[in-house]
Amino acid sequence: MRIPALRSVATTIAVIFGFCAFIALLSWAEYSAWNAQVARVEGSLKQTAEAIAQHTDDVIEMSRLPLAGLIAEINDEVGHPEMPTKIKALITRQMKASPTLDTLSYIDAAGQMVATSSNNAPPGMNYADRDYFRFHKENPFRLPVVGKPIKSRLSNLWVIPITQKVLLQDGSFAGTVVSTIRVNHFINFFRGFDVGSDGAFLLARGDGIVLVRGPIQESMLGTSLAAGELFSRYLKRQTVGAYHYTSPVDQTARSGGYYQSTRTGIVVLASASEQEVFRAWVDTARTRWFYACILLGLALVAALLWQRQARLRRESEALLAAREAEFRLLAESSSDVISRFDENGIREYVSPSAMEILGLEPERLVGRSVYAGMDKLTETLVRDAAERLRNGSTQEKLLIRHTKPDGEHVWLETALSKLPASRDASATRVVAITRDVSRHKNMQDELDVLANTDELTRLANRRFFNTRFEEMVQRARRNATPLTLLMIDADRFKLFNDTYGHAAGDDCLRQIAAVIRDCVRRPGDVAARYGGEELAVLLADTDEQGAAAVAENIRARVEGLALAHEKNPPSGRMTVSIGLATVAAQTGSAITAQALFAQADEALYRAKSSGRNQIVSATPSRPGVPNPAE
Ligand code: GH3
Ligand code: MG
Ligand code: MG
Repeated sequence: MRIPALRSVATTIAVIFGFCAFIALLSWAEYSAWNAQVARVEGSLKQTAEAIAQHTDDVIEMSRLPLAGLIAEINDEVGHPEMPTKIKALITRQMKASPTLDTLSYIDAAGQMVATSSNNAPPGMNYADRDYFRFHKENPFRLPVVGKPIKSRLSNLWVIPITQKVLLQDGSFAGTVVSTIRVNHFINFFRGFDVGSDGAFLLARGDGIVLVRGPIQESMLGTSLAAGELFSRYLKRQTVGAYHYTSPVDQTARSGGYYQSTRTGIVVLASASEQEVFRAWVDTARTRWFYACILLGLALVAALLWQRQARLRRESEALLAAREAEFRLLAESSSDVISRFDENGIREYVSPSAMEILGLEPERLVGRSVYAGMDKLTETLVRDAAERLRNGSTQEKLLIRHTKPDGEHVWLETALSKLPASRDASATRVVAITRDVSRHKNMQDELDVLANTDELTRLANRRFFNTRFEEMVQRARRNATPLTLLMIDADRFKLFNDTYGHAAGDDCLRQIAAVIRDCVRRPGDVAARYGGEELAVLLADTDEQGAAAVAENIRARVEGLALAHEKNPPSGRMTVSIGLATVAAQTGSAITAQALFAQADEALYRAKSSGRNQIVSATPSRPGVPNPAE
């Protein structure tokens, strides 16, 4: 597998892992929040249960107290005919003192109601069948007992009886005293606590007998929960705690808090519907989830964007690498040197042909500036071309003379092309294709020489002369430098031909040309055969005086050749006449090539007519320059 593919798989795994971690973190946070909520609810339910238990303790206590007083009074009044009245009076007093009491009664040993606080008690009612009565009759237990809830025969309401055995001083059983608390009292009390609409309360004796169930559930009252988990397991471990259960009454799953009183052993269970707790939690969590979802969505979008960006980057990198490979393949198979350099001219790549064409190893060139080791003129040429590329030109061609390390000079033609801007390189990059054009250049040069040279004399021909003449006149005018034209004509050459033959004439012309070539040596000067036996010399940056010296040298040296020309008196040698015309070194000179030529030609004519073998200047005479026209 390729590395980028591996990297992409790793990235995807990392993103999935991060996403899962985020979800896990969120879930954990929510789970903790839920637990906290449950703990809060349980805490509050436990507090509720404790508060109810305390209240129940107080109520039971208040119901027990009058019983002892009543027993004492019965003992005092036993056998007395006024006893029922006295007991009734005591009951009335005690009822006033205990507002939570429902009724307070005395039932004698036969189960007959002796006295009661109830106003609607029909006379002669018997309670011998009541559980509590039978219990006290048969059991020696002397303390007050909280009985099972019963439906009062007096009020027809559910009540909890608190009863106590009445023993006379002689130890004989004298019945039972009974106080009752209405089950509704607790139901009303429960209303002061909020356990939700589906919450429930349970008040039971320590042995599991249900005393109150709110909301009221009559079928449950008096039943035993001793076998249930709360009594068989939870209460055995702790007297206060949380209890989760499914109600056998309404099949509702509930979270509860229970509390067992240490004073009376009473157990209270306050519970709330788990569904309601959950709903309450969902209400508080909804905002949190909303923001978590937004966050998750944003993270997902960011991850997707990032992945897309990474994929695009990988693709562009691959494209770039492919392009580079293609470029190198083409470059390396080319016989031309292909190189690439940055905007500062630092070479980034040089193809292997550099060895053959430049005599330099590509490795030595890469990283170096193209300007390194260049002469001033070439550098200017290259910098100008680079500047033109920067300013919008797409291709530039250069012809450069290069010296190989072994000293061989070669002519290199280089085409510079600007690379289209790519994403990774904002600056201009240039590709150069360089080929060796030495052979071509040399042939071209030779052809140029041939085209510009006179065959007989090897001097420049008239065509070349005319081209240079125009250029030199213009430059002289531009630079305000002097320029001199010499028109040189062989004297009586026709007669020479006639006397010595045409071939001798040709040879004579060659010798005169050799003299001229020898006398005109400065690189800017031009010596040409203008036509027939007429020759022309252009002396750049040369004033009349200097030119006259050159002309005199030519004249004298031709005469000095001592070529016999019997028909050219008085010397009898071959001589030349020279017409000289100078453009003076002055700014604003408007002379043309044509005018200068005419002046020189006219001067030559004058030299001929005034005896030949002499130099005549077109300008007014100066010392040492004969001017026969004057
Ligand atoms: P002048 O002193 O007045 O110049 O007399 P000239 O005879 O030299 O003048 P003219 O112009 O009458 O004659 C020029 C002669 O030069 C004519 C021609 O035969 C000869 N000539 C021109 N070109 C060549 C050449 O290439 N070879 C030879 N041998 N003779 C040439
Ligand atoms: Mg002539
Ligand atoms: Mg002549």
